[in-house]
Order: sequence, then structure tokens, then C-alpha cells
Amino acid sequence: ALADEYLRLSYHGLRAKDKGNAAGRFNSDFKTDFDENLPPIKVVPQDIGRVLLNLINNAFYAVQQKNGADPTNLLAPYQPMVSVSTRKKGNRVEIKIKDNGTGIPDAVKEKIFQPFFTTKPTGEGTGLGLSLAYDIITKGHGGSIDVISTEGEGTTFVIKLPYEKT
Ligand code: ADP
Ligand code: MG
Repeated sequence: ALADEYLRLSYHGLRAKDKGNAAGRFNSDFKTDFDENLPPIKVVPQDIGRVLLNLINNAFYAVQQKNGADPTNLLAPYQPMVSVSTRKKGNRVEIKIKDNGTGIPDAVKEKIFQPFFTTKPTGEGTGLGLSLAYDIITKGHGGSIDVISTEGEGTTFVIKLPYEKT
């Protein structure tokens, strides 16, 4: 499968779902910025789809939490935002999932890729999403997944997948 094609497909799928679902429900902006010229890359589409869906769900959850926590500042109201972007960087394809939600405290950051680690109430999270994502990206695709996050400001997950030069 070609990752760029798949990513465009998953984008449309997510967009459709997102309309009646996440963005609508959370009243958030959902932006996408896909590089039209990504090189072909071998992926297991269902697996990459699961990873993206979990990261995007996490991001919407984080903006929703922040929305609830912050009383509205009338001068600069909080505008929840989630974005997904792709681009080519060196010999990798880079996928970024970014939100301006709660952010992740440093003590929590160390644990988020562990199986069953969750800060969500029972029934809202299994704590398996990121550990699964880690395995799929690293073991399954020879890539990497990293998190950049500032508490109170937001979070960006960066996935890098290698591609073969032709
Ligand atoms: P779950 O979503 O079931 O809690 P995950 O493995 O997907 O499990 O995530 C583990 C934890 O990482 C979450 O409970 C949350 O504390 C933290 N986390 C993940 N993504 C984000 C994000 N975008 N913003 C803030 N915290 C996050
Ligand atoms: Mg999750």
C-alpha cells in the first residue's frame, strides 16, 4: 500500500466521522495539511489507521478537557484545535498530530507508552492506545514515535516512517 494514498483516504474517513462526531461534539477546529508528493512507503493500512485514530481521539479528548477546565476568558477565548500533517523529511515520512489541549506533565510523559497506563476515568480509557501505537510504529514499520508536550499548552506526536529510495 502507498502511505500517501492511505493517509488521504484516512483523512476523508476521519473528516466524515469527525463532522458528526469529534469536532462537532467538542466544537473544535480540525485542520489537515498533507504533502501531495509523499514518496511511496510500505505500511499495513489498518494498523496505521488504528494509530492515527487513537492519536486523534486522544487529541480531541485533551482539548475537551481543557475546555472544561478553563473558564472562558472573554478577551481571548480558548479555540480548541487539532491538526494532522504529513511531509517528507530526509529519508522519512513524518506525520504530526498536534493539539492545543491540556498538555502532559513531565511525570506523566514518562509513562504514556506503557501498556494500561491511563489518566482517564474507568470506562473512558484502556491505556492501550499508545503502547499499541508504539509497537505498530517501531516493531511493525521500523519507524519512531515521539511526544513533544507542554503542560497547559498542548501536545504534538511525531511519527517518522522510513521509505525506500527508488
Ligand atoms: P487512553 O487514551 O486509553 O488513556 P493512551 O495509551 O491512548 O490511553 O494514552 C495514555 C495517556 O497518555 C492518556 O491517558 C493521557 O494521560 C496521555 N495522553 C495521550 N495523548 C494525549 C494528548 N494528546 N494530550 C494530553 N494527554 C495525552
Ligand atoms: Mg487513547
